[in-house]
Amino acid sequence: MILRGIAASDGIGIGKAVCVREQSLDYSAVKYGGKEVEKDRLQAAITQFNEKTTAMAEHIRAQVGEKESEILTGQIMMLSDPFMQSQMEEVIDAGQCAEAAVDQVCTMYAEMFAGVDDELMRQRATDVRDIRSRMLAILLWVTGVDVSHLPAGSVLVAHDLTPSMTVGLDKEHVAAILTEVGGRTSHSAILARALELPAVLSVPRVMEQLKDGDSVIVDGSEGTAMVNPDQRTLAEYLAKQEEFLRRKALLAVYRDRETVDAEGNRYALYSNIGSPAEAGAAAEAGAEGIGLFRTEFLFMDRNSVPTETEQYEAYLAVSRIMAGKEVIIRTLDVGGDKAVEYLGMAHEDNPFLGHRAIRYCLDNPDLYKVQLRALLRAGAEEKNIKIMLPLVTSLEEIRGARALLETCKAELEAEGLPYHKDIPLGIMVETPAAALIADLLARECDFFSIGTNDLTQYTMAVDRGNAQVENLYTTFHPAVLRSIRSVITAAQKAGIPVGMCGEAAADPRLIPLLMTWGLDEFSVSSSAVLATRAQIHRWHAAQAAQITQEAMSLSTASGVEGYLQSAVKD
Ligand code: PEP
Ligand code: MG
Repeated sequence: MILRGIAASDGIGIGKAVCVREQSLDYSAVKYGGKEVEKDRLQAAITQFNEKTTAMAEHIRAQVGEKESEILTGQIMMLSDPFMQSQMEEVIDAGQCAEAAVDQVCTMYAEMFAGVDDELMRQRATDVRDIRSRMLAILLWVTGVDVSHLPAGSVLVAHDLTPSMTVGLDKEHVAAILTEVGGRTSHSAILARALELPAVLSVPRVMEQLKDGDSVIVDGSEGTAMVNPDQRTLAEYLAKQEEFLRRKALLAVYRDRETVDAEGNRYALYSNIGSPAEAGAAAEAGAEGIGLFRTEFLFMDRNSVPTETEQYEAYLAVSRIMAGKEVIIRTLDVGGDKAVEYLGMAHEDNPFLGHRAIRYCLDNPDLYKVQLRALLRAGAEEKNIKIMLPLVTSLEEIRGARALLETCKAELEAEGLPYHKDIPLGIMVETPAAALIADLLARECDFFSIGTNDLTQYTMAVDRGNAQVENLYTTFHPAVLRSIRSVITAAQKAGIPVGMCGEAAADPRLIPLLMTWGLDEFSVSSSAVLATRAQIHRWHAAQAAQITQEAMSLSTASGVEGYLQSAVKD
């Protein structure tokens, strides 16, 4: 059987399916076994909960950090509270099973905490809900897949790849990823590429079509998956896999080279990251800086806003790893497909067009100031940090952020804390509004970075994660290309640097156009750094200019893409 989806992360993965399914925690069929039996069940479940949670905390401490693991140790303390346990026993004394005791007491606490107007208390609500579902899973013998301990050669099959799954993901044991949702620029795809795992997304009903243990070949470059293949297909893909790895190894010669075109003109080649740990990988991969640190990932997989100190440490860590090189840190870009539950953002019918990113941050200055202060302070040491605002549509947003930045500087000054007084402030150009007034915006900010993932989505009016309209989501559309060209021109006229951190920066077919228009900096996933450097090396300015002229004379996306495909073939 051959399944088709969206080619989201290159490479060939061969292994056995491990399906991550949502589990039912319905206990209506459980019969009351009497006071003693139910209390014993409850205590046994608590012991098991504590053992499992301690092991998870250990793993997270080693892989992620002390602070993150404290969330879990805090849960053990909560459940160990004798008062909470006696309340559960009272429910059992009243004739209900252990599951009902856990459910009722945890739900009562969660509601109580959620109703308090205090951030710390609201996080407790999330913790108790988590305790509830994990305790119910233990009592009901519902075993979820533990993605931190997978057998070697697992092909992870899931409805979606959530950031919480990837935090503890046992990367060495994962051969590939298959999901039912997500497009090439969805966050699942970006995560898969950061992990260098082959991935095919938006495979219709893949969870129904596969069962645990099925043999699967995933071709992340073609967007296909072969289920229980015959020997001939297997041999064919083993050879393809070898060829892919051979090509990858060949690129190693570009590791310590400068990023120059065939005539020696220099470009900056940076990397996109989502955590301080990825900064190490970026430096290792030969990146010359960080062009986009997606800080929203620091806010995910936890129960509360990271404190100023936590954020300061994360930003400082990246700044130190990249000492002497630029680090562009984007302020919180929540909303759209990036949910942060504890922020309590309202449900919206059109979240991609809603109260998100810079809009949300400016309306929540207390939260935003924590991040701005952390950035200003982290910038003091190496002075290599630049602040970037997401989803800008107007000058007022830049002015609003700048005003808050000035307030933060005054506060830090008064507190006697060191900070970077002249920290540069730039913007993502990723909305048609920003692209159309790029000349006006360029007067009030220090740099641009073009976010083609969103610029394409908003210019084309196509949800970047919706497989049904995937054919319309294309950066090759003349509207998107003209937009990119005019943004680069506006930056040049204003004399500010312009980069690109959307996925298009790594597309070999677009590289000659971007070079010709004068893009200063390409920021790509770490896994694409060497291939991008190799592509830039290929081109003489005159050749690239000719290709650009021809491409821009065509009037349809498919025409442009087809032409570039053949013109750029290696
Ligand atoms: C973009 O929109 O191009 C971008 C780089 O940001 P994100 O993918 O995080 O939305
Ligand atoms: Mg974006």
